[in-house]
Amino acid sequence: MDFRLTEEQEMVRDSARKFGKRWAPKMDELHRRAVEDGEFDRTFFTDLAEAGFAGALIPEEWGGSGMGLTPLAIAMETMAIEGVGSAMLMLTQMNALCILRAGPDELRQKYLPPVAAGELVMAFAITEPDAGSNSFRMATVAERRGDDIVLNGTKTFITGADICDKILLIARSMPHEERKAKEMPKTAGFNVVVVDPKAKGFSMTEVPTRGIEGLKQWTLHFDDVICDDVVGDEHMGIIPMFDVLNAERTLAAAAALGMTERLLLKAVEYAKDRKVFGDRAIGSYQAIQHPLAEIKAELEAVRLLFYKCATMFDQGARPMEIGPYATMCKYLAGELAIKAADQALQTFGGSGFSSETGMIDAYVNARLLRTAPISREMILNQVAEHVLGLPRSY
Ligand SMILES: Cc1cc2nc3c(=O)[nH]c(=O)nc-3n(C[C@H](O)[C@H](O)[C@H](O)COP(=O)(O)OP(=O)(O)OC[C@H]3O[C@@H](n4cnc5c(N)ncnc54)[C@H](O)[C@@H]3O)c2cc1C
Repeated sequence: MDFRLTEEQEMVRDSARKFGKRWAPKMDELHRRAVEDGEFDRTFFTDLAEAGFAGALIPEEWGGSGMGLTPLAIAMETMAIEGVGSAMLMLTQMNALCILRAGPDELRQKYLPPVAAGELVMAFAITEPDAGSNSFRMATVAERRGDDIVLNGTKTFITGADICDKILLIARSMPHEERKAKEMPKTAGFNVVVVDPKAKGFSMTEVPTRGIEGLKQWTLHFDDVICDDVVGDEHMGIIPMFDVLNAERTLAAAAALGMTERLLLKAVEYAKDRKVFGDRAIGSYQAIQHPLAEIKAELEAVRLLFYKCATMFDQGARPMEIGPYATMCKYLAGELAIKAADQALQTFGGSGFSSETGMIDAYVNARLLRTAPISREMILNQVAEHVLGLPRSY
């Protein structure tokens, strides 16, 4: 075991820090334009590509930098410390990883080089109005009709559908009853497809949420939409997703840890400065100090689990091996970000609720991690069932 970052990882951290410092002052305006005008500054993605982050999971032969998950996760954590969130980077990367793993080569050639160049941004759609935590209950169907794969149904809460170029979507390859009648396994009967948001038969309505990083959420309606492509083997689309979701959870943990460190730094800075009784800063009171010190200790511990997950992934560990660590890491990092946001808010007193300090918005961003991309309860269910071997209640 070596707990120091490698020279290459240090360089990645350095370049992510520079990226963060370059973009942090522009983020408010970028979010405002995304919310009010539906425009997202594309130089954000091309700049990410120049730093090598947009192609981090893509091997050089498909135009990427092939850095791997650990450097990408370190980059996302570092950017979050600087105040630059990157939800669309995370979503596009997990989609690219799915295409890389599942293929075929023709699709790798079609999609991976533009992703690595920061020219192709992708949303990800799995959630449905009647199938959130239980993806196996999804009803949207992407079925073969001659040469075409035709999509019908509804997805909801899809982040960035208005600003993306393509959507990677998981749907049934046949209705649920047909799969059962054919006695296919539960994991069969799914297609992963690429959909163009400009395709005929596609429409979307906004879900009025608080959003993430200026990105809106949308309900997508598909009425006989012809898909651009099917990723991987027809009917077996959900299999490569298992590994992809491990990467997504590790990257979500990276963002949560970066968020935690940023909130901690902001709270400490404020606590050193703010005086309300005589000439003593509030940071000298142990009621303020101790919760912050506790968060720092927990941050360092969760960071170790996070490095472990990312390293296991890059070393090619099997999805079943990484799965429990990736979900536990996402759980701990998410809960820690919420704790840090709550304590930062408390440290700022009433000013925490002023939009100028950004603390209350940070709380909402952190709180989302308890619900999405996978909820706290579903993580604990998985740990209880698959790690502890307890019986399933649902
Ligand atoms: C801001 C935002 C952005 C999002 N972006 C995307 C996106 O880009 N793409 C996408 O596909 N989805 C996206 N989602 C959807 C998100 O992944 C889901 O909201 C999340 O997975 C929970 O599903 P649900 O909302 O249907 O909750 P439900 O499944 O209805 O669950 C409701 C509550 O019940 C609990 N619960 C459910 N089943 C169990 C059980 N068996 N045991 C214990 N507790 C249980 C849940 O944990 C939760 O607390 C986004 C959501 C939000 C809020």
